[in-house]
Amino acid sequence: MEAGKGPVDLEKEVLNEGLCASCGACVGICPYIKVVKDRVAIIEPCGISEGQCYDFCPRTPTDIAALERRIFGEESPDSSLGSYISIEMAQARDSETRSRAQYGGVVSALVTYAMNQGEIDAAVLTRPFDGSLMPTSVMAEQSSQVLGCAGSSYITSATLAELNKATKQPRGAIGVVGIPCQVMALRKMQASKHETGAKGVKLVIGLFCTWALSYKGFNEFLKGKVDPSSIKRIDIPPPPANILVVHTKEGTMEFPLDEIRGSIKPTCNICYDMTSELADISVGMVEGIDDWNTLIVRTPEAKRLIDKAKQDEVIESRPLEESRLDHLREASLNKKRRAISEIVKRTGDEKNLLYLRLSDGESRKFL
Ligand SMILES: Cc1cc2nc3c(=O)[nH]c(=O)nc-3n(C[C@H](O)[C@H](O)[C@H](O)COP(=O)(O)OP(=O)(O)OC[C@H]3O[C@@H](n4cnc5c(N)ncnc54)[C@H](O)[C@@H]3O)c2cc1C
Ligand code: SF4
Ligand code: SF4
Repeated sequence: MEAGKGPVDLEKEVLNEGLCASCGACVGICPYIKVVKDRVAIIEPCGISEGQCYDFCPRTPTDIAALERRIFGEESPDSSLGSYISIEMAQARDSETRSRAQYGGVVSALVTYAMNQGEIDAAVLTRPFDGSLMPTSVMAEQSSQVLGCAGSSYITSATLAELNKATKQPRGAIGVVGIPCQVMALRKMQASKHETGAKGVKLVIGLFCTWALSYKGFNEFLKGKVDPSSIKRIDIPPPPANILVVHTKEGTMEFPLDEIRGSIKPTCNICYDMTSELADISVGMVEGIDDWNTLIVRTPEAKRLIDKAKQDEVIESRPLEESRLDHLREASLNKKRRAISEIVKRTGDEKNLLYLRLSDGESRKFL
């Protein structure tokens, strides 16, 4: 969105400032940007002054209202949760999906359904645990692969690099599941003038996200306590629990959240979006009800898919209690307040919000 900038600027403004979210949008475009675990680096200067890497990055200047107009046809009237058609709670009807999923299995059920219905030909997913603490990105081409990616890793993976591979090897209509920083990068890729695999993306399912952990920090924290290759599931129960729960083949361990806060990625402190406001569909937990999801439907196409999935008994839904909706709004607004406050602490200037391009009216709500 900011013309005339490239890898040198990406390195200076994002990588060197510790703002990289390791979304993968800049990975695989060229031979000069590499990812090792969740660390992205420019290994050699490529010599060009203007680049897709800068254009796609969710931590370079991003005009949120312009992206909203592009996706929803208008700027969001709702500062807390973004544009939406409906919010309810939902779960997968299939009990195996629910048992393998993080919460209600809505994400896995919808991706599987969209593939089986021919709505998408492939899906970009993240496999959370595969004998390693580090999640892996996957371009699933068969619906049978989807459940293998169920569950949540609280470490970020450079998942969007799969879309850069798809630029060279088109996959038809693609679905993407991602956290808010990945969804923002994906929308920037779609809006960009450059040819990219993101142009083939027809369904964007965004997850809620408050923060993620750095691989290095969390790996060190677990040393001597848990063998990462035995992890089956990690959960962060809602407040007031204040714990992180690790389920392994040997049993379950609980750790106080305060002990792992130091491993939260610095970029998460300036992250403005909790509910993937730029997605077609957003999915999170329902606090206190383990096997249900909060489901936000944002676009008419997504509503059509959800209605069909309900009719075909793939998912079921119930109204979300007003008190839970109020709580969700407050959590999202709090994340925005914290992000803006942290950004202004860094820049020392209320007019300089780093990557966020918000109208004066919008930013004043959070200052
Ligand atoms: C880093 C992170 C932080 C989160 N924080 C919150 C939160 O604060 N509040 C909240 O309500 N929900 C949060 N979630 C979302 C929540 O954990 C569930 O993913 C969501 O509720 C969907 O549940 P489900 O049962 O439908 O998922 P499932 O059917 O199990 O599907 C989960 C999907 O998540 C994807 N996935 C797994 N790990 C990652 C990853 N690291 N990056 C990108 N995609 C991944 C997989 O591709 C899979 O398709 C977070 C998720 C992640 C990855
Ligand atoms: S595009 Fe993504 S991976 Fe690349 S620098 Fe930006 S945040 Fe990091
Ligand atoms: S808090 Fe934001 S930057 Fe951090 S992992 Fe979640 S979406 Fe990405």
